[in-house]
Amino acid sequence: MSNALYILTIASFLLLCKKIISTFTLFKEFLSIVSQTNGLSLSDTIDLLLEEDGLSPDDQIQILEFRDLLQAFLINKVSIETLFNHSIGRVLFEFFKNFPISFAEKHIHLSGSLAPEFVWPRLKVLLEGVNGDAVLAKIREVYGKDVLIDSVESVQKLIELDDEGDFAKYLRILFLPKIVLNSYQAHREAAYFMAKDMYDKYNVASLTLKFTLSRSTKIKGEQVPGLENLTPDDVVLGLYDGYIDYQKENPKFRFTLSPSFRKELDFFDADLFDSKKIAFEAQVLYLVDFLKRHPHLKNVLCEVDTVGDEKSLYRKSHFEQMRTGFRKLQYLGFQVKSHHGETWKVLRKGIQAVDNAMNIWHIDTLEHGLSLGVNPNYYYHRILQEVISENMHGRPLEQGINLLEIEDMHGVPPQVLDKLKKGELLDDLQKQKLMKIKFHHAREMEHYQHDVLNRMINKKVGLVALPSSNLKLTGSLADHKDHPFSWWEKKGVKLGIGTDNYITLKTNFIQEMMILLFSEPNDLKITKLLMVATQEKNRAVISNALWQMRKAYIK
Ligand SMILES: [Zn+2]
Repeated sequence: MSNALYILTIASFLLLCKKIISTFTLFKEFLSIVSQTNGLSLSDTIDLLLEEDGLSPDDQIQILEFRDLLQAFLINKVSIETLFNHSIGRVLFEFFKNFPISFAEKHIHLSGSLAPEFVWPRLKVLLEGVNGDAVLAKIREVYGKDVLIDSVESVQKLIELDDEGDFAKYLRILFLPKIVLNSYQAHREAAYFMAKDMYDKYNVASLTLKFTLSRSTKIKGEQVPGLENLTPDDVVLGLYDGYIDYQKENPKFRFTLSPSFRKELDFFDADLFDSKKIAFEAQVLYLVDFLKRHPHLKNVLCEVDTVGDEKSLYRKSHFEQMRTGFRKLQYLGFQVKSHHGETWKVLRKGIQAVDNAMNIWHIDTLEHGLSLGVNPNYYYHRILQEVISENMHGRPLEQGINLLEIEDMHGVPPQVLDKLKKGELLDDLQKQKLMKIKFHHAREMEHYQHDVLNRMINKKVGLVALPSSNLKLTGSLADHKDHPFSWWEKKGVKLGIGTDNYITLKTNFIQEMMILLFSEPNDLKITKLLMVATQEKNRAVISNALWQMRKAYIK
């Protein structure tokens, strides 16, 4: 090594040491303030941190810089990634990672949460096996004929959703993880891998896993080769045994297995069953029978969920097919959870879907629930701005959410709708009329939202918030800051946090906590966030944990 290179290496090593020492000092300062103030908001904590005696000038600069960046983030001048990557962002990550009470991940799917390090070696075996050609052909069908799969990195590229990715792409790219989940043993190893990964990296020691009992389907795009012999028993027992394997290493680990059923009315095997109702009830009977055969799983196999495209499912009649099946499960002590209010054709139907899920299925927890959190005044005004702007440019209003929402507003004159569709200019009176109709529609939807949300609170129905998933997959939020978590928290909703699919969505549980904190730095208290993330209801327990943490790090 040349002298110059040697000096450069030493210099970068010293710089790294300085960075690590500085991060650790800041971590201790941050912990000291949070424990002494019992977890104020992030803004208040940072203000107090700046007033601390004995801060080095360097640390002071870091904190001031972060405070400015946080303000800039609130007015859309910097991205949330800038905050994650800042030294104070890393301090926050370490703070949550080392918090003495581990977190409860309330909503995670199996296929979107398997790391490429898990997927690649298993995929390699499949590609080199007897069905290798068929597997490769199917992969090419899904990812394109030039797809490259030869390493962990190449798999990572394929299973992570890029920034331009949408819901359709997201469903497609879950294919690779699904293909390796082909046996009891694969499920067992997947469960172990996932539990260990989430605890080691993100301090998660409790998880609620959503998974599909039976993946056999007649829908072509959903068919996965090599799964013909996989039974529901393989899936459930594999997952259970994998989690128990991990629990033996880490006794504080807890889990709930939540079989998830597709709710689309045409999603069932029509060769085997006459109706969706009969097909669903057969799965219910399977669960009942399974628990008779394996009663030791009763404490963890205790809830079910529904997934799938809900856009066309909002009327009472749409909930009838699965009604008696759920009732049977509820009588046996199962909790019913439901993915609802995540996506919608029009917002009114998104609220109605939640309303009916509560009234007809008697759900215990609502997963997503975004239709109860979007601000109707903002939502409809944005739509009207876009519609009017298009019209002023003489462009016809195309099929899509904006047209559907305008058509859903009560009292829009047919001639106004006709002009919008043809791209003929509205006159001032017609624009004003449309604005008034929008105003009243927004007010009615706001009423409806509050009515459903208040009933949810009264009935103690829980709500699991999934910030990254909602931003990346629904298209209903313009920014992380639009997520309604903080509003729900203030209203007293029983909340939980989930990542949905942390690998596919390139996030993790701690990052979701940081998103929530950065989005509401003035209102959301760190203690409140910790209570939701740990599911600890007793505030004093959180205070005590903060104090114990302080004792461990600050001598
Ligand atoms: Zn989900």
